[in-house]
Amino acid sequence: MCLFCKITNKEIPSNIILEDENYLAFHDINPKAPVHILAIPKVHVDSFHELSPEIMTGMTSFIQEIARKTSIDKSGYRVITNIGENGGQEVGHLHFHILGGTKLKWGHFADADPKGLF
Ligand code: 5GP
Ligand code: ZN
Repeated sequence: MCLFCKITNKEIPSNIILEDENYLAFHDINPKAPVHILAIPKVHVDSFHELSPEIMTGMTSFIQEIARKTSIDKSGYRVITNIGENGGQEVGHLHFHILGGTKLKWGHFADADPKGLF
């Protein structure tokens, strides 16, 4: 069973901030912003690339509720999901990072040489 399935099953403790029948949100163990929450579907999905529109629909309102609950809905926030090796995904259970609480920088990307792509 994967790490986030164990968190879903409460086999591994986490600091939960929101939960319903299908989704779970908890604080990232290594926060990269004053607010850094991870939102996951309780059912195991490898990554965004395997995500069904049905699960995404519920995830949308779940993430919006997290932003309200952590009071970053008005000030703004960022939602990120890393996909696969080049995307930098380290945990193989789909998760959305919800980051806020400060003015976020735009960075941490590899140097890009778009020649030949466009
Ligand atoms: P990824 O790099 O896969 O997009 O993000 C994985 C995230 O999970 C990282 O930000 C990391 O800090 C977080 N993480 C890894 N293990 C644990 C854990 O056991 N508990 C919690 N709450 N977060 C974790
Ligand atoms: Zn899992």
